[in-house]
Amino acid sequence: MQLPRNPTREVRIGTVTIGNAHPIAVQSMTATKTSNIDATVAQIHSLERAGADIVRIAVDNKREAAALIEIRKQTTVPLTVDLQENYRLAEVIAPYVNKLRYNPGHLYHHEPEKAWQEKVRFIAEVAKDNDCAMRVGVNCGSVDPAKLEKYDPHDSISPMLESALDHCEFLESIDFTRFCVSLKDSDPAKVIEVNTRFAAKRPDIPLHLGVTEAGLPPDGVIKTRIAFEQLVSKGIGDTIRVSLTVPNDRKGEEIAAGQSILHDIAAGRVRSVVDFDQKGLNIISCPSCSRVENEVFVDLAGDVKQMTAYAKDHKITIAVMGCRVNGPGETDDADLGLWCGPNYVNLKKGSESLGRYSYDDILPRLKGELDALIEQQSAK
Ligand code: SF4
Repeated sequence: MQLPRNPTREVRIGTVTIGNAHPIAVQSMTATKTSNIDATVAQIHSLERAGADIVRIAVDNKREAAALIEIRKQTTVPLTVDLQENYRLAEVIAPYVNKLRYNPGHLYHHEPEKAWQEKVRFIAEVAKDNDCAMRVGVNCGSVDPAKLEKYDPHDSISPMLESALDHCEFLESIDFTRFCVSLKDSDPAKVIEVNTRFAAKRPDIPLHLGVTEAGLPPDGVIKTRIAFEQLVSKGIGDTIRVSLTVPNDRKGEEIAAGQSILHDIAAGRVRSVVDFDQKGLNIISCPSCSRVENEVFVDLAGDVKQMTAYAKDHKITIAVMGCRVNGPGETDDADLGLWCGPNYVNLKKGSESLGRYSYDDILPRLKGELDALIEQQSAK
């Protein structure tokens, strides 16, 4: 069976074109230190062998940008880089990649006196000059603060949607149309809703799909499958990524999982339900990347899952994040959150910080908070 596809515009990313009738491209991201050129090239090659169409890498500073120049020489796969707060780094990176991804929610930190439109214009001009496509990557954990203020705090969808639509409109107003959009959340039901609403308003813009911080397999694959089945079977989605918390030598599993989900949808094997509702314990964890602050992060996520298994029937969300870049923001909506520093793990209860603990002490401390939460829930 042929997958139905929205008639989006086409966007070329190096040798791969997404959108319209082109095959859905499967993407992954390196998790090695970008400054370790050999390890990063080896991981890119292994992702390519697994079938990756596009590979994303993290470049946060000039040292990593210098490594990128060497990495580019050793691979022809379309490369994409996500810009964090320092949007000006685009100028240094763009000659060596095929797509630049920026997050509208990150444009407020660096040079806050400048309007976001000026920053986006800068990135778009750099992209144009260097034959790069762009992705407007909207993420539930880092939404434009002005949009958050405008809506009811319980409505997390409308701020994301409006932010994405505003950026599309602005890019088009400056005559830049070679871009796609992503709208990610760790909750598959929200991923379905926000992407469905976006596609209804802008069916012409290609979408990159993903459930962010989907977590450890098999749960991470199941959550992602739920979202992709509902969206891809309705023609929504032009590139995908399955974000899994796996060690570096298993990153190819992200590609295999993505291919298998697409294969099943094409064969009509759609198993999930639209009204997905989290009933029990939900562990969300980032897939890790070059920014991860301590290499034991993936083990820590596994240990958290194992240690908390006794709470499986309680509707509690625990987030485990690998670094300070996205950790503080992306843990805000979880009941309990952990984000890693080099030597300590920061513990949070909702948006409240509970302090930082050594890697040896964090699990008993987390257990104490989890027990207290269960007690509170039982008392209601
Ligand atoms: Fe990378 Fe940090 Fe995001 Fe984890 S939370 S994927 S380490 S940027």
